[in-house]
Amino acid sequence: MKYFDLHCDTATECYQKGLGLSSNGLSVSLEQTGKYDRWAQVFAVWISGKLRGEAAFHYFQAVAADFKQKLLTDTGGPVLCRNGNDLKQADAAGKNMALLSIEGGAALGGELSHLGDVWKAGVRLMTLTWNGPNELGNGCMTPGADGLSRFGKEVVREMGELGMVVDVSHLSEKGFWDVAHTLQGPFVATHSDSKAIENHPRNLTDDQFREIVRRGGLVGLNLFAPFAGSGGTIPSLLKHAEHFLHLGGEKTVAIGADFDGCTLSAEIRGIGDMGLLYNAMCGRFGKEIADDIFYNNAFRFFTKHLN
Ligand SMILES: [Zn+2]
Repeated sequence: MKYFDLHCDTATECYQKGLGLSSNGLSVSLEQTGKYDRWAQVFAVWISGKLRGEAAFHYFQAVAADFKQKLLTDTGGPVLCRNGNDLKQADAAGKNMALLSIEGGAALGGELSHLGDVWKAGVRLMTLTWNGPNELGNGCMTPGADGLSRFGKEVVREMGELGMVVDVSHLSEKGFWDVAHTLQGPFVATHSDSKAIENHPRNLTDDQFREIVRRGGLVGLNLFAPFAGSGGTIPSLLKHAEHFLHLGGEKTVAIGADFDGCTLSAEIRGIGDMGLLYNAMCGRFGKEIADDIFYNNAFRFFTKHLN
């Protein structure tokens, strides 16, 4: 099977704990991915709520540099891709792929010019907020959450110009609709489940999901138990997938497991166990849909939209 995952915090964990990518005791390590015919992973630089201003930008630079160094030195590392052609070439050559993202637009330090800097550093997706507020707007766990700030809207417009993918996971509901009104093209929710199945502020309403479908975006299923519900087991994840499929999400649903950013259930202990979910999806939805969810939807999206 091929596996494309929209979100993990492994690069940040490796930086903070001084670990490598190959064999590190984390949920994502290169030694676990050899079993997949192909593996593509979005690696996020996560910006803590405590980091703001230039300190946040410098933290991004440090984690990104550390990660890129490890991609070159650690055995079996994926190839860092910056556009759709890079992805197509790596896939055709049988190589694993990495994309770099930011989780928390606070990384820009409130400066629009830093968007160009992170783009040059290879960032191709950005989650606008984490759970709390930042210069761009309010996350979904901000009390009385408002939407995007004026700066946040400027950033979204500029991301549209650059071709950097806007990620609305963690964003407040009002912020979501601000993105929808500000941006012309598709956007994604890299690691969010369905609110109709599990009523959690981090999950998407049916209207939000339909809007992402309408635009040709992506939604990555998150393994974290409080979002998935029912202990985050495989049957609970299938319920979210099934609901999204009923809303017309055959070409929208993907996986954003949130490895190394969440606690896992007993069934899936790390990236090497994702074949269990894949097999369960093949059984429930058929191989074609399981392949779309696990790889094809995300691969098609990024090869089309990253230029
Ligand atoms: Zn997250």
